[in-house]
Amino acid sequence: MTHSAPDPLDLDAFRETGHQLIDWIADYLGGLESRPVVEATSPGDVRAKLPDRAPEQGKALSGLLADLDEVVVPGISHWQHPNWFAYFPAMSSPPAILGELAAAGLGVQGMLWSTSPAVTEVESHVLDWLVDLTGVPQDWKTTGPGGGVLQMSASDSTHTALVVAREVCRKRTGAGAEQMVVYTSSQAHSSLEKGANVAGFGHIRLLDVDQNFAVEPATLRSAIEDDLAAGLTPAFVCAAVGTTGTTAVDPVRAFGELASEFRLWFHVDAAYAGAAMLCDEFRHHQDGLELAHSYTFNAHKWLATNFDCSIFWVADRTPLIETMSIVPPYLRNAATDAGEVIDYRDWHVPLGRRFRALKLWWVLKAFGAEGLRAMIRRHVGYAKSLTRFVESDPRFELFAPTTFALVCFRHRDGDEATRALAASMNANGVYVTPSEANGQAFIRVSIGSTWTEDRHVDQLQALIDRLA
Ligand code: PLP
Repeated sequence: MTHSAPDPLDLDAFRETGHQLIDWIADYLGGLESRPVVEATSPGDVRAKLPDRAPEQGKALSGLLADLDEVVVPGISHWQHPNWFAYFPAMSSPPAILGELAAAGLGVQGMLWSTSPAVTEVESHVLDWLVDLTGVPQDWKTTGPGGGVLQMSASDSTHTALVVAREVCRKRTGAGAEQMVVYTSSQAHSSLEKGANVAGFGHIRLLDVDQNFAVEPATLRSAIEDDLAAGLTPAFVCAAVGTTGTTAVDPVRAFGELASEFRLWFHVDAAYAGAAMLCDEFRHHQDGLELAHSYTFNAHKWLATNFDCSIFWVADRTPLIETMSIVPPYLRNAATDAGEVIDYRDWHVPLGRRFRALKLWWVLKAFGAEGLRAMIRRHVGYAKSLTRFVESDPRFELFAPTTFALVCFRHRDGDEATRALAASMNANGVYVTPSEANGQAFIRVSIGSTWTEDRHVDQLQALIDRLA
């Protein structure tokens, strides 16, 4: 008897299982509240459920969904859970999920304009829309000297900026990277340090912060002057608009002016808070952005678009392309040679690139700018209400200002009480991040799950009240 394996290319089976998968996802998202936020699992539990060897015989597509229930779901943290208050949000939403699925269905590569023009043109266009929507400088549009490109992560965007800055500085000063200095806040995301190391910079200065966890301009100035006096070459400065620890905002304009005075590359990391700039009331935090050479913000954090979707804007695309472009003969084509098109492979390290812009486009289309602003304001409103609760209760103190939708607070009884409170909250149906800054423990409550409603924040407040 011959056994014929199921055909993995059978489109009828694909259609049927695909429909079931959409049902599965809708049930998963709709049913999250009945699950713990983080599944209890130990190292190796998931692998123990997988066969020792890869399957020799193919299996029917219809069996795939059981893997989600049996292997995957018991081994994940539910980032989309309405009681997810940890790290920063990694939002997803129905239009983003559909965009992701459609991009996989199309299976195209957008490395050059000519390899799939729609991938490039939708991306350029949607990022130009976002220039208007977030109030960043008009020059950053692809119709001007600058332009936007989607990358996998803010870490990639920042690394790319560092590499371009290194080359610009090398051409201008003749200095080697080991002579060059990068400046950023001691509160900056670790991607700055990692990117500077990978790009070969010899020195990175993690600058002291003030009581609000932002760097004062005088601190930056004296660090630059000390390095100049020591014969080093200041090359790059990054201002954070929303640090990871406490969403502190460095003074963008003052940093930009110092960058101009000392001829440094000026990068702004707004990975989390960039989304808030859709709302006018937050724009003052980015005053001075016209002095920046590059900027990153993650649509995959707080803009309802699932990972990965990091926006990288440059004020002038020429040094970026000069640094990144290498054209082997097999990538030459008439459109590129005519200089009429954008080839995004010249805007970052990877060659191959997927159609990330599709989900971002569909998010903007399905929510509308008004819907996204309303979502951000809703989260900010929840954060304000939690802040009022913390401030009015003598057991707690606010650890840092609530600037966006992250509430940082601690127990007045000290570090142990603060850590114990975070641990008991996490054991009681919510998920927050215990952290530390300036040698003090605090709790980060980041509000921004797609499915969080006021009742979840009320329950969170009641839980803090009960457990403290
Ligand atoms: N910059 C800031 C301020 C962040 O908060 C984060 C992540 O939380 C990053 C950069 C890194 O983002 P990504 O994971 O996209 O590399």
